[in-house]
Amino acid sequence: MLKVNNINVFYGNIQALKGVSLEVIEGEIVTLIGANGAGKSTLLKTLSGLLKPKSGTIEYLGEPISGKAPQSIVKTGISHVPEGRRVFSNMSVEENLELGAYTRKDAGGVRKDMEKVYELFPRLLERRKQLSGTLSGGEQQMLAMGRAIMAKPKLLLLDEPSMGLAPLMVKQIFNIIEQINKDGTTVLLVEQNANMALSIANRAYVIETGRIEISGTAAELQASEEIKKAYLGGL
Ligand code: ATP
Repeated sequence: MLKVNNINVFYGNIQALKGVSLEVIEGEIVTLIGANGAGKSTLLKTLSGLLKPKSGTIEYLGEPISGKAPQSIVKTGISHVPEGRRVFSNMSVEENLELGAYTRKDAGGVRKDMEKVYELFPRLLERRKQLSGTLSGGEQQMLAMGRAIMAKPKLLLLDEPSMGLAPLMVKQIFNIIEQINKDGTTVLLVEQNANMALSIANRAYVIETGRIEISGTAAELQASEEIKKAYLGGL
């Protein structure tokens, strides 16, 4: 579904991604784990068109997408939930969800997906008239995910959905990611919480200072001594 081939991405003179290649197959949950500053967010921003690679290619559903504008990438079915769950704080929950569907013309489908989002996140239904800026951190994360679902993505890019959330909320969010995947959306999940990410992923990549250093099935990575020491807090 998605093939990233040898991309190099710079911020001015600083090279944030160094020859990164990875693949996501339709139906999978793939996770990208790595420490602070490793380049995880940079990769997602590049996939959604916010950054342009200096070299290398990105192919999505058989078509090259590197260099395309973010709006046209959204239309191809890629939806990005950025780190820090940016919601429009002076708009209501429901208005934020409606905005997520702004590229769609199928009003009936949009209404159905709104119901689906409220089913996945009953908390958002309770608070649908509330101003988004007054939601708790976890609720804002739900809203950011809900808004992305409203775009009806084929591929969902999630940037650290667990950040700053209490353990119970993290569990809930990960259950919902699995649910969204079962309903037919492919997921590329960036996480520092490697334990949780590997527990729901099919495959994983580890990125260190801009380079993919390790890749394998989630089970292989969970069993690896190197990964346990560096990322799973184990001995
Ligand atoms: P974190 O988990 O801390 O969010 P990350 O893996 O997502 O980290 P990135 O945000 O992709 O890391 O950053 C990769 C590198 O690029 C870092 O060294 C960072 O300082 C640098 N970087 C990110 N954004 C910019 C920018 N706008 N200008 C210059 N350098 C940047």
